[in-house]
Amino acid sequence: MIDSLFWLILFFLALAIGWGLGRSGISWSARSHGSVKPIPSYPYVPLLDEQSDEALQRFIRALEINDSTLDAHLAVGRLLRKRGEVDKAIQLHEGMLANRQLTNAQSFQVHLELGRDFLAAGVLSRAETLFLELAEEKAVRLAALKGLLRIYEQEHEWSKAVEVCERLIAEDSYYRSVLAHYFCELAEQDTRHGRPKDALGYLEQALQADSSCLRAFLLQAKLFSRAERHADAFSALIQACRLQPALVGSVGNDVLEAAGRSGADLEGALRAVIGEGRGLPVTAAVLVLARQIAQRSTSEALRFVQEHLRAYPSLLALKGWVELCQICGDSGKVAMEDIEGALDKLLLVDFRYRCERCGFAGKLLHWQCPACHGWGVVKPLY
Ligand SMILES: [Zn+2]
Repeated sequence: MIDSLFWLILFFLALAIGWGLGRSGISWSARSHGSVKPIPSYPYVPLLDEQSDEALQRFIRALEINDSTLDAHLAVGRLLRKRGEVDKAIQLHEGMLANRQLTNAQSFQVHLELGRDFLAAGVLSRAETLFLELAEEKAVRLAALKGLLRIYEQEHEWSKAVEVCERLIAEDSYYRSVLAHYFCELAEQDTRHGRPKDALGYLEQALQADSSCLRAFLLQAKLFSRAERHADAFSALIQACRLQPALVGSVGNDVLEAAGRSGADLEGALRAVIGEGRGLPVTAAVLVLARQIAQRSTSEALRFVQEHLRAYPSLLALKGWVELCQICGDSGKVAMEDIEGALDKLLLVDFRYRCERCGFAGKLLHWQCPACHGWGVVKPLY
């Protein structure tokens, strides 16, 4: 089914190329044959029938490359690559490059596609060489730099990725957040190699690139906590929670511990998080705060959660309320336990994180979306 769909698409692409040739009057001309348009006898027929290397070679030889047909050529190459037939895509693009009539601009386009072929084939050194050269050509600079990033990400060459990313920032501010993630990767590398000071330096750079880099705050908190700098750890955690209040659900215990060890004003900090965020995302913060309040007044804590639950009902809020009821008094405890067990199951089957960009959903927090490769786009649900 997919196969026949592919060949159908190729058929229409070839028709488009034929149309381009017809318009440019290079290979055949309807006008010269009178009023009846001739049916083009090539190049799509052998490609459709044989699906072989020979067919591909004939396809390459048969087509003249000019401005009207270049896009269709490139589209065929992309289709081949997408189908996993990278060797054929390489053949096609190398065949096109053998054509001496290519203009510089056309040649850059084809080289770019060839670089992408090598990237897809895992021949990273050849892809890198091509992209490095193309990154100096204005017309394809952006695409070449993006290609380089994909290579350095695969190779975990984060320093090189940083250099390339800094060049991309001028074109697209999205790369500020990507750059911050590269610094975080460097920081994680240094942490693994027992160089926490260097790691903290990279985290500073991450936050300079993107002051709302959640990951940098969380990594900072971890390093500060290991160095027994609990007040710094607490403040980094709270910064992270202010950026993304739903995060309190997963780092709530760290927040409590850092506050306990540093004597920081936990209640004030959580109230700030709740006040800024509001709505469903602050549910986790409301629940942590309620436990604090419960230490001095159980009725105030229950009222606090109940108000939030009524305004912003959610499974998480309901579960928190049930838990709090159990802590605050044991009336109807058995029924409460049943409810809580059921809710636990509901929460488990649910996806906890979703990519804002492509909708990818999963149970783990990925810094780089496995589906669309976007950085910092997977967000916790609540
Ligand atoms: Zn995604």
